[in-house]
Amino acid sequence: MTQFAAADESAVARAQRELEAAGVRTVIGTVVNASGLTLAKSVPLARLKTFHEAGMGAAPVWHVFAIDGGIAFTDSITTVGDMRLRIDIAGLRVLPGGRAWAPASLFEQDGAVSPVCTRGLLGDVESSLEEAGYHALVGHELEFFLVAPDGSALENAPWVPYGATGLLDRADLLDDLLSALHQAGLPMEQIHAEYGRNQFEFSLPPAPPVQAADSVVLAKTIVGIVARAHSLQASFSPLPFAGMVGNGAHQHLSLHKDGVPLFSGGSGPHGIGAEGGAAIGGIIAGLPEIQGFLTGSVLSGSRLAPGSWSGAYLCWGLENREASVRFLDGGKSNPHGANVEVKIVDPSANVYLASAAILALALHGVRGGRQLPAEIPGDPGRLSDEERRRANVLLLADSPAAIIDTLDTSRLARGLLGEAIVDATVAVRRYEQRISADLPPDELAERFRLAWSI
Ligand code: GLU
Ligand code: MG
Repeated sequence: MTQFAAADESAVARAQRELEAAGVRTVIGTVVNASGLTLAKSVPLARLKTFHEAGMGAAPVWHVFAIDGGIAFTDSITTVGDMRLRIDIAGLRVLPGGRAWAPASLFEQDGAVSPVCTRGLLGDVESSLEEAGYHALVGHELEFFLVAPDGSALENAPWVPYGATGLLDRADLLDDLLSALHQAGLPMEQIHAEYGRNQFEFSLPPAPPVQAADSVVLAKTIVGIVARAHSLQASFSPLPFAGMVGNGAHQHLSLHKDGVPLFSGGSGPHGIGAEGGAAIGGIIAGLPEIQGFLTGSVLSGSRLAPGSWSGAYLCWGLENREASVRFLDGGKSNPHGANVEVKIVDPSANVYLASAAILALALHGVRGGRQLPAEIPGDPGRLSDEERRRANVLLLADSPAAIIDTLDTSRLARGLLGEAIVDATVAVRRYEQRISADLPPDELAERFRLAWSI
């Protein structure tokens, strides 16, 4: 696992000195589990070295804690055993209020990485890409709804989708968010009022996959701190309010080989190179099988309605917001360069696992020499059923049971990402389906509105 090098003595001591000078008293280390929940342990700053080296204890059931606080036991994950939660010193960041945060990985007692450590898994996928000569960057978008502390909707002030109104109404909160992200060394690219009432979105700059996923957890933590300071909460549910637009957690991906981009300068459509086309082909071919990692929760399917810009159609197209893979061309107006955006991901997904699954499919596509499928230039929702059939455009599954059943039986997912991680994901998501079977949509949305908040 390349992402978690043990820091030398002096690096830990230096970090401790710097944090002390910044007024930090407590260090929080987080992991994300199969339900997409962020779990944590914290230590006084003086215990930084121990948190990094020996780690803090975490029961194996951490992986399968469910969104209602219950536990989705599996044959291999029971009440017995212990793991170690060890923070990565390189990821330490200062939070407001005398706290620091660091991403953590999960280890077995003997020091081996736990097979269900999703941060470790993403590190492995990143290493596989590097070994094959590919350098990946991932850029995340975060959407959330501001709600009252108990999760209820804020009063109905006027709301203009993408309007300046929301930016001004919430100017103090957004300024504090910007400052806190800056203090944590996390540059925000932009923020805007989204389509939904009291919904906002900001984006983070592209970074190597593990670092980018760490930044999402850090950013969500900071959103939680700032929202609380303004007597609010932020909902990162895929569908906070039934019948409305949902929250996406879109991931932008670019690939380079020997410094040459795979998605531009080639001879395919929009300059996509052969290997870039194979990566896109791999993602599209495998997406239904790994969808349980991206949109697996009991609220994920209802967000995927056509027309809600969540990329529900299995196809790709230039700037096509209804395509699950939206292609963004490089050039003057896109300084980060050409990239593909996987739109179906939502914030109930484990961000490490979602990136790992997408990147593993891209690499699988390149290794298998896949062809770039035909581009779908318009909104597939405007085609007739017959036209869609001829163009080979499917609508992705929106039933939680079907999405998870497909993941459970997918040899591709199990082969690329491991049995343990598929089993844990299937266990927690089937548990969600059981506990919510009798809930009408509005009660379901309300009950789990804050489940994925930090
Ligand atoms: N909120 C939409 C989603 O659920 C995305 C809107 C947009 O294109 O940014 O993914
Ligand atoms: Mg958006």
